[in-house]
Amino acid sequence: MSGKLYLVATPIGNLEDITLRAIRILKEVDLIAAEDTRNTLKLLNHFEIKKPLISYHRHNEQIKVDNLIEKLKNGENIAVVSDAGTPGISDPGEVIVKEAIKNSIEVIPIPGACAAINALIASGLDTKEFTFMGFLPLNKKLRKEKLKEIENETKTIIIYEAPHKLKNTLEDLKDILQNRKVVLARELTKIHEEFIRGNIEEIISKAESLKGEMIILIEGAKYKEKEVELNELSLDEQFEFYKNQGLDKKEIIKKIAKDRGVSKNEIYMEFLDK
Ligand code: SAM
Repeated sequence: MSGKLYLVATPIGNLEDITLRAIRILKEVDLIAAEDTRNTLKLLNHFEIKKPLISYHRHNEQIKVDNLIEKLKNGENIAVVSDAGTPGISDPGEVIVKEAIKNSIEVIPIPGACAAINALIASGLDTKEFTFMGFLPLNKKLRKEKLKEIENETKTIIIYEAPHKLKNTLEDLKDILQNRKVVLARELTKIHEEFIRGNIEEIISKAESLKGEMIILIEGAKYKEKEVELNELSLDEQFEFYKNQGLDKKEIIKKIAKDRGVSKNEIYMEFLDK
């Protein structure tokens, strides 16, 4: 019988945030696949857990998966942990989960800390619906596309950022956010935990001197702001904008016709091939 694959969330700063179940599973599995074995060893030592560790990080994820799947098929139970927080969320995990499912191996999440969710719930921004974007791409073209998405996104947006890139990212956001609320969630669960709230200009002025781990949260675009921008979009861009909101072709055509004060038929003819 195949073993089980556990995705075990670990603390994002405060070690008290590990769950009793996470400790038990880490004690029970045959092997722990860790993003950084030295880091995880410190965690295991703290909780007096002795287990074989194998490295499983972004750069060897694909290669290591075959080996781990083989072990699972041979009946070994494996826990995947990342350096901090929930595996698979801007951290390794996704590849092995997909492969495990293909091989009919049971995948079990062990819930715990996730920086994005904790930042969101205390941000003061809308929590009903949100868009998690992880790290913004570094590639210029892809980054520009993401910034456009952020500009039009009506749900609360969550972005991860490395401390040394924070200033640069905030400057990029300055051009598109106008007066939308921004929250920086810093050093969550640690001694210097802090939420800094304001508009983008205010956040930039305060961010200069900040150190530590950071999440950027952005209020969704308001409908009125969007309308002004929509007039400036090409037909194709407007189509994409509504498509990203989950509307189907018929609804999109209706919206565009209304926005532009023209007949639905006129817009329909423009998008015959879509
Ligand atoms: N898998 C993790 C999770 O569940 O949140 C995220 C890992 S990702 C590689 C690291 C990023 O998460 C950091 O650059 C930062 O944006 C955010 N982060 C992690 N821990 C944090 C903390 N204690 N306070 C604020 N942000 C944190």
